[in-house]
Amino acid sequence: MTQAEFIEITSEIERFYSTDKEDKKYTSEQIKIMYEELKKIHKERYRQIAREVYKTLKFMPKLADLVEINNTLPKIQEDIQEKVECKKCDGTGMVAYFKEIKDGNITRKYLFGARCTCANGAVLSKKIPSIAEVGVYDE
Ligand SMILES: [Zn+2]
Repeated sequence: MTQAEFIEITSEIERFYSTDKEDKKYTSEQIKIMYEELKKIHKERYRQIAREVYKTLKFMPKLADLVEINNTLPKIQEDIQEKVECKKCDGTGMVAYFKEIKDGNITRKYLFGARCTCANGAVLSKKIPSIAEVGVYDE
C-alpha cells in the first residue's frame, strides 16, 4: 500500500482509540517504522487487520500487535478462482443428475448434485461426491 493509504487507515485506528479527553496518536517515528514494516501488506488487508484490532484489542495496537494479527488472521479470498470452460458442469463445478430410488413399489427419481472433475469442481468441498465417484459421465 502507499504511504497515503497507510496513513489514512492508521489515522482511523488512532481515532478509534481516542476519547473526548485524549487524542491517541502514534509519534512520527512510530509511523515511519510501522510503515516500513507494513508497506508490503495490501491496503484491503490492512483494513481487515484494523477491523480485527477494533474487535480484539482494548488499547491502541503496537506494531507487534498488527504484525501478529496479520500472521494469524485468515486471508480474504483474494485470488478469485478463474472459471474454466467445461461442457459437463457448464462452468459451475456442479453436475446435476437423477438417481432412481425405490420406495416400496414406487420408484422415485431424485435430483442430486455431484462435483465436476474439472478445475471448477476442484475448488468445491471434497465432501460433495465427484461425478467419477457417483458414476456420472464415466465414459
Ligand atoms: Zn466441469
